[in-house]
Amino acid sequence: MENCLFCKIVRNELPSTKVYEDDKVLAFNDIDPKAPTHILIIPKKHIASIAALEDEDCDLVAHIIRTAKQLAAAKGLDNGFRLVVNTGRDGGQTVNHLHFHLLGGRAFSWPPG
Ligand code: AMP
Ligand code: ZN
Repeated sequence: MENCLFCKIVRNELPSTKVYEDDKVLAFNDIDPKAPTHILIIPKKHIASIAALEDEDCDLVAHIIRTAKQLAAAKGLDNGFRLVVNTGRDGGQTVNHLHFHLLGGRAFSWPPG
């Protein structure tokens, strides 16, 4: 069993505010939100990052993106949103379990800092 923060959330060993769940993915509110809507969408399977993706994970990633689209619609993010995957040290990744940040409810600047 993985000794990983988000795996523990998947196994309900740590609390989270779930907003969506099925057999493959879990979505829950970020504990330190950076926007009015800030949801993390993760595979239930432990994958460390985008850099660790295998070809067989393509359908799973597509499923996560479709979940993001559906959650954005459910949250009324009709003016747009941002889907972010920080990867590795330079990418600012702090939890080594693949997660997509769904951010919305305000306008975001570009480029990122
Ligand atoms: P990243 O920096 O891209 O790896 O994002 C990790 C995210 O996980 C951050 O936005 C944190 O606020 C969030 N986070 C860390 N611990 C928890 C937790 N226990 N529940 C919900 N979100 C968390
Ligand atoms: Zn994990």
